[in-house]
Amino acid sequence: MGVRSGKQFVDGLKASQRDVWINGEKIEDVTTHPAFTRIVHQLARLYDAQVDPATRDKLTYVVPETGERAGMAFMPARTAADLARRREAYYHWASMNFGLMGRSPDFLNTSLLAFSEARKVFGRGGQKFADNIVKYYEYIRDNDLFLSHALITPQNDRTKSSAEQKNLHMRVIKETPEGIYVQGARMVATLGAVADEMLMYCLPGIPESDSDHALAFAVKVSDPGVRQICREPYTLDGQRSDFDHPLSNNFEENDSLLIFNNVFVPWERVFMYRDVALNNALYNETALRNYTSHQTNTRALVKMQFSVGVAVAVARSIGADKFLHVQRMLGEALNGIEFLKSGLVRAEVECEQTGYGTVRPALAPLQALRTFLPTAYPKVVEMIQTIAAGGFMMMPSGADFAVPDLSEETALYYQGTGGMSSVDRARLFKLAWDLSGEAFGSRLLQYERYYAGDPVRTTASNYLQVDDREMMTLVNEALALAGDPSAASRRSAAAA
Ligand SMILES: Cc1cc2nc3c(=O)[nH]c(=O)nc-3n(C[C@H](O)[C@H](O)[C@H](O)COP(=O)(O)OP(=O)(O)OC[C@H]3O[C@@H](n4cnc5c(N)ncnc54)[C@H](O)[C@@H]3O)c2cc1C
Repeated sequence: MGVRSGKQFVDGLKASQRDVWINGEKIEDVTTHPAFTRIVHQLARLYDAQVDPATRDKLTYVVPETGERAGMAFMPARTAADLARRREAYYHWASMNFGLMGRSPDFLNTSLLAFSEARKVFGRGGQKFADNIVKYYEYIRDNDLFLSHALITPQNDRTKSSAEQKNLHMRVIKETPEGIYVQGARMVATLGAVADEMLMYCLPGIPESDSDHALAFAVKVSDPGVRQICREPYTLDGQRSDFDHPLSNNFEENDSLLIFNNVFVPWERVFMYRDVALNNALYNETALRNYTSHQTNTRALVKMQFSVGVAVAVARSIGADKFLHVQRMLGEALNGIEFLKSGLVRAEVECEQTGYGTVRPALAPLQALRTFLPTAYPKVVEMIQTIAAGGFMMMPSGADFAVPDLSEETALYYQGTGGMSSVDRARLFKLAWDLSGEAFGSRLLQYERYYAGDPVRTTASNYLQVDDREMMTLVNEALALAGDPSAASRRSAAAA
């Protein structure tokens, strides 16, 4: 079939009935519900860019086996230049939403590429699993479907294994010659309500007792028994003006709890089955993070550029950029952008062979960036809040600018430096508040903290998995200078 247009994506959603709940209501059509119309439109824009002659070659490639076009995130890379091509496609999509859409389709498309390239790892459970994952990669690639996922067991009691909380977490409950049946919940499926399919696997680190939970498989969002309960939406289309809420109105990615009620999964869609050892090795041995963090850090680069840009614009609008401590803050924020740019390129230049005739980005610089962002991004948000200060709270609604009785005052009192009009300054401060203060902005911050897992444990794993050879060589060379604690060690260079 090849890449889809926005209309084809929307038509696909309309044609698939799904069991999605929001605000106490079952949604009939996600494409017209006010909690989703805008984000469906934003997703459709991404798909449209794939078929637009102006951007088609940047965002897609021709699959040699089919002669059809597919999204660039599916493209196996043979060289560092191919990895740069993938990054440029990620960057283009991310820049269409200022890096605020964490779960654009390329994120999980690149996961499937990783899994397909590491098919042998799945094959350890039996050749059929290796074949299944490759066929699934091809199916999603060739039909250009949109995936969501929910990898985490819901927070019920974090001191207990899933087996000890058996009726809660998603697990296999029955096996037949045709397939398996799964039951229980998983969190958090960002954009799950408007996805086509769910790709299910688990984080590493599950205990032997949880073998019923050690599964990897895929289902359609519309499969019988697949239910989603969405969190409260932060915005509903048509309720708040775009002038007051330009970002939250457009880029709110709803999240849901994903529930499986005796869902049937045919064997062709099972990729790993009751295999704790394989589950716990999956991330490292498929090199999944090498692929996903190349996409996520590229998206985060756009988000950092945008957010730091907002901080700079707010500072300039009131002349606060003339103060030393504000300049220092902004300088620190600018470092983050440079770190991201450098790390991405280093990951490409130092790419590693996959063993399948392809290359993947190096993990270390990408993982460093991933664990840098949970602290770096909140700092930028705090900068915006600190620089704008009470200015956020003096801003009127956009509607006030249209009131003739208020027009003299609204034109006068909200002006910025350098002749910046009141309307322009209010527009900027509204944007900045949407980004840093609204529920939408708080979620964006929470996303950066948690999307790649618990930052405490992921950062600790940087240490636990360190390749310390170079640093310890330096330390040992320096220790050799000290020698033994004897008088001889006080010899002068001349005596030596
Ligand atoms: C906005 C947003 C969107 C998301 N989207 C998705 C998505 O699309 N798909 C998806 O799969 N996931 C998604 N996630 C979930 C994300 O992967 C998790 O939030 C993340 O892995 C952390 O897990 P948790 O939230 O269950 O926190 P927990 O693991 O429950 O941690 C809670 C607290 O307890 C501490 N803690 C818990 N267990 C331990 C332990 N064993 N050792 C030490 N400390 C511990 C943590 O450090 C933390 O302080 C999303 C999260 C957010 C915030």
